[in-house]
Amino acid sequence: MLDADAVLIAAPAPAAARLLAAESPVAAAELSAVEYASMALVTMAFRRRDVLRMPKGTGFLVPPVDGRTIKASTFSSHKWGWIDEAGPDTFVLRTSVGRHGDEADLAWDDTDLVRLSRRDLGEAIGLSAAPVAARVTRWDGGLPQYPVGHVERVARIREQVGKLPGLAVCGAVYDGVGIPACIASARKAADEVLTSLAATLATGGARDTGE
Ligand SMILES: Cc1cc2nc3c(=O)[nH]c(=O)nc-3n(C[C@H](O)[C@H](O)[C@H](O)COP(=O)(O)OP(=O)(O)OC[C@H]3O[C@@H](n4cnc5c(N)ncnc54)[C@H](O)[C@@H]3O)c2cc1C
Repeated sequence: MLDADAVLIAAPAPAAARLLAAESPVAAAELSAVEYASMALVTMAFRRRDVLRMPKGTGFLVPPVDGRTIKASTFSSHKWGWIDEAGPDTFVLRTSVGRHGDEADLAWDDTDLVRLSRRDLGEAIGLSAAPVAARVTRWDGGLPQYPVGHVERVARIREQVGKLPGLAVCGAVYDGVGIPACIASARKAADEVLTSLAATLATGGARDTGE
C-alpha cells in the first residue's frame, strides 16, 4: 500500500484499463478497446568494406502493396552520428517486421527474420553482404493504433478520469506515439493533477493522513 497525494497512470492501455477498472469502469472499457500493433526489429552489423555501395539517406519505408516481409529499414550508421563514430569500420542497419493487421511474419524465429530481412534488402538495395552480427528485438503490443474516433475516445477517457481528483493518465495511448508527444502528455497530466490537488487543498479537502 502506497499513500499518495496524486497518481499518474503512465502504463499502456491494457494495464491502465486494469488499474482503472474499479475506480473508473467507463474509462477502463474505453482503454480496453485500444488496439496495438506488434513488430520485431532486426539489427544487423556489417563490415563497412562489404557495404561500400549503400544508398545515401537514412533508410526507406516499404508500402504494403510491395508484399515484402520487411516494412522499413533504417540505416542507423547514416542516421545517428554516434553509431558511426563508435564503429567507423562497421555499418549498422535495422529492418522492422510486422505492422497492424499484418503480423503473420512475426511467427518466424529469429534466424528466419534475419534471413528474410537479408533477402528483402538484397532485392531492394542490392545488399548481398553477410552481417557479422544480428539481433532480433520483439515488441509485442508495442504501438497503440489511432483509428478514426481516437481523439473522441481519448476525450471520453480524460473526462472520466478527471472525475477522480488527483488522478491523471498519460503516455502513447493518448496524444501521439512519438516520444515528444508522450512527454507532452506527461506534462499535461502532471499539470492536471497539481491543479486538482491545489483546488482540493484550497477548499479544505486535504486528504486524511490520520494525523
Ligand atoms: C519498435 C519501436 C520503435 C519506435 N521508434 C520511435 C522513434 O524512433 N521515435 C519516437 O519518437 N518514438 C518511437 N517509438 C514510439 C515510442 O518509443 C513509444 O510510443 C513511447 O516510448 C511510449 O512511451 P510510454 O511512456 O507511453 O510507454 P512505455 O515506454 O511503454 O512505458 C510504459 C511503462 O508502463 C509500465 N507498466 C506496464 N504495466 C504496468 C502496470 N500494471 N503497473 C505499472 N507499470 C506498468 C511498463 O513497464 C513501462 O515501463 C517506437 C516504438 C517502438 C515499439
